[in-house]
Amino acid sequence: MKKHLTHPIFQIVSKIITKNQQEAYVIGGFVRDLILQRESKDIDIVVIGSGINLAKSVAKQIGNTKVSVFKNFGTAMLQHDGSEIEFVGARKESYQRHSRKPIVENGSLSDDQNRRDFTINALAISLHADNYGELLDPFDGLTDLKNKIIRTPLAPDTTFSDDPLRMMRAIRFACQLNFKIEEKSLDAIKKNKNRLKIVSQERIITELNKIMLTDKPSVGFKLLDKTELLDIFFPELTKLKGVDTIQGRSHKDNFLHTLQVVDNISQKTTDLWLRWAALLHDIGKARTKKFQEDRWTFHGHEVVGAKMVTRIFKRLKLPLNEKMKYVEKLVLLHLRPIPLVEDIVTNSALRKLLFDAGNEIDDLMILCEADITSQNDQKVQRYINNFKIVRQKLVEVEEKDRIRNFQPPIDGAEIMQLFGLSPSRTVGLLKNAIKDAILEGIIQNSYDDAFTFLLLEAKKYQLQHQK
Ligand code: ATP
Repeated sequence: MKKHLTHPIFQIVSKIITKNQQEAYVIGGFVRDLILQRESKDIDIVVIGSGINLAKSVAKQIGNTKVSVFKNFGTAMLQHDGSEIEFVGARKESYQRHSRKPIVENGSLSDDQNRRDFTINALAISLHADNYGELLDPFDGLTDLKNKIIRTPLAPDTTFSDDPLRMMRAIRFACQLNFKIEEKSLDAIKKNKNRLKIVSQERIITELNKIMLTDKPSVGFKLLDKTELLDIFFPELTKLKGVDTIQGRSHKDNFLHTLQVVDNISQKTTDLWLRWAALLHDIGKARTKKFQEDRWTFHGHEVVGAKMVTRIFKRLKLPLNEKMKYVEKLVLLHLRPIPLVEDIVTNSALRKLLFDAGNEIDDLMILCEADITSQNDQKVQRYINNFKIVRQKLVEVEEKDRIRNFQPPIDGAEIMQLFGLSPSRTVGLLKNAIKDAILEGIIQNSYDDAFTFLLLEAKKYQLQHQK
């Protein structure tokens, strides 16, 4: 492996530990990715002894480098030549059934490899001059890498029960690397699924987001479903599963449809939040499903779904900020471009959507196109062409009317001042009336027109202009 250790840190570490008669190894994800020829920025170095001391010696050698020390974990980190390098002393971990926290002691390389999650993550390469570049692979991880297998180094039940997050990680790696989880390990995940409840939501969501960012997230979600982990932390999604039939009429499986939409959108964007919008676009369908007048309906699922976003984000520990608002907005608007396909559609309908979607209009169109999941290729092509027409109409209206970031020429503060009002529903109604009149083309988007219109509108409320 010698010739592959091109990063300058390896020679620096090698010199120091050889001089100190110590052992140190590069280990884990970096070695795995090196063999898979995947890009990897983080380097983990395990030393038999103190990781913090080694990091300090390395920093001294490099000069002018800051070491971040995490005393509680016995680790230290520094940046060098574009990489983040973490140093840790080899550890032996033993878990007891009644406690989530392992007992941690100093250990040998083999102790440290035993506590790793998968055989492919337990590979180590020696950095000591005597055997520099030698691969230490006690669990035959190299074969698993070749055969694309995720397998635990110890009995799967032990590995998963010790730290149940590893169940999520197994699925994440299977999805990210396009590997298969070995049958015994997959069975053990299902058996230990309830242990996931002791894992913090922050750790779970980190893995879920990594699944969301893979090329084909459906692979991960199907495994999460098969092992029944999904039901534990994301029941809203599993409620979309299944097909009902009444009077010979069935609806589509909204779970599988959703996963297809996420896969579709993942071909167009790497934006995590647009992918989340795809995952949640139909989340309101389980609650709104009805069979009426010979057919299945999901009336208002976009409104119900948008309302569910906050609660889901809160529980899953996703950020409660503008990203959440963005997802909410796309879920709410995801049906709006569909009727705009019709020839008779008015410019005012286009302007209203441009106003409501604002800067998100392009992402909304990407979501709508990803939402086409018919098996019938001709139908898909027809719908895609239709959306092309909608996009074109939107461009034309936007060029003409500049609605995207439009603000009505008279705002709430001015309305209050003009009529001596305090903040109230009436102010909102007047403000909206001006906006709608402009979007509907009743008046021009100018201050004078808006002012005249406002005076007329205010009469309906018996308001007097305070001159
Ligand atoms: P990525 O960088 O894509 O997240 P990675 O394998 O480098 O992948 P990290 O979370 O950085 O993942 O972990 C680094 C190494 O630490 C892993 O390769 C593995 O050996 C070990 N590891 C991480 N988490 C666990 C865990 N929960 N249980 C056991 N070993 C773990």
